[in-house]
Amino acid sequence: MPVILQPDSAAIAQCAERLRAGHAVGFPTETVYGLGCDSTSEAAVAEVYRLKQRPSSNPLIAHVLDAAMAKRTVIGWDVRAQKLAEAFWPGPLAIILPRRSEICASSVGGRTTVAVRAPAHPVARALIEAFGGPISAPSANRSGHISPTTAAHVCEEFPDEPSLPVLDGGPCEVGLESTVVDLSRARPTVLRLGAIDAAELEETLGTQVFVTDPGIQGASPGTSPSHYAPHTPAELVEEGALAARLTSEPSPVAVLAFAGTPVDAPHELFALPRHASAYAQMLYATMRRADASGAPRILIVPPSDKGALWDAVRDRLRRATARRPSQRN
Ligand code: AMP
Ligand code: MG
Repeated sequence: MPVILQPDSAAIAQCAERLRAGHAVGFPTETVYGLGCDSTSEAAVAEVYRLKQRPSSNPLIAHVLDAAMAKRTVIGWDVRAQKLAEAFWPGPLAIILPRRSEICASSVGGRTTVAVRAPAHPVARALIEAFGGPISAPSANRSGHISPTTAAHVCEEFPDEPSLPVLDGGPCEVGLESTVVDLSRARPTVLRLGAIDAAELEETLGTQVFVTDPGIQGASPGTSPSHYAPHTPAELVEEGALAARLTSEPSPVAVLAFAGTPVDAPHELFALPRHASAYAQMLYATMRRADASGAPRILIVPPSDKGALWDAVRDRLRRATARRPSQRN
């Protein structure tokens, strides 16, 4: 099991040293926990891809302290990037621009671009500051699985890595991965939905912002139809169809739905709050509990509420329930 560290200054210094030595560190951000490494070290980047079993084409986000560090990471930090950073950093927005040559090509799947984000979590910021440069980090889970939102989740993902330190920053406040906006194209384009939506970006930039259809495979690397998925087969069931579905289930299933949804024994309700930000914060932890319950199937009732965060939630639920290639026949 990885070692959980309380994030005091000695632990931060120890983890920064480990990053300098070319190794990976688990750390909290306000979105999800990350598995960080030195963005400029091929060996360190290779370790993260190996630990995660992440396809080498799937790029990592470089975590920076602020716009000044972002400028040392990307080329062409322009007025649009500056406006977005002023409005949303530190926070859950990753900005894609051409990368400087110091940022390993292998950390971005060979691309000429890199996504930069300044996280708001004080432990993430302390780690970046102590390290003194960008930290490339994907979510700290095995590729394709549910993102971790506590230090304990990171340990569950990497049970065979006793030397991996994980800084414990408590449960993540946002709970969903960052919004990713690509400024390397002629038109600013959102590649991944998150807590910050295209309308807010448009308002800040004063120009139209496009959104890639999340249903299009390969629109953005890593946003394949199946992602963020539990091990247990999971399926979306509309609220109106749930009661009939439960009576026809041959064995007890786990149901992920709003608190108060009628679910009779032997089926089990894994309840989620009605408020969008509370729902997003709890989603992955609740999905993990449903996954660990032993039920042979998870039925997820998708919320129908309007709003940017709900759109991001539905995007993740669709991916969590998409059939994995190994399940296709
Ligand atoms: P994760 O590290 O798991 O949060 O995933 C980061 C995601 O951000 C990737 O899977 C891509 O969808 C997107 N992303 C990061 N960097 C780039 C980039 N340079 N170009 C396009 N998409 C990117
Ligand atoms: Mg991820």
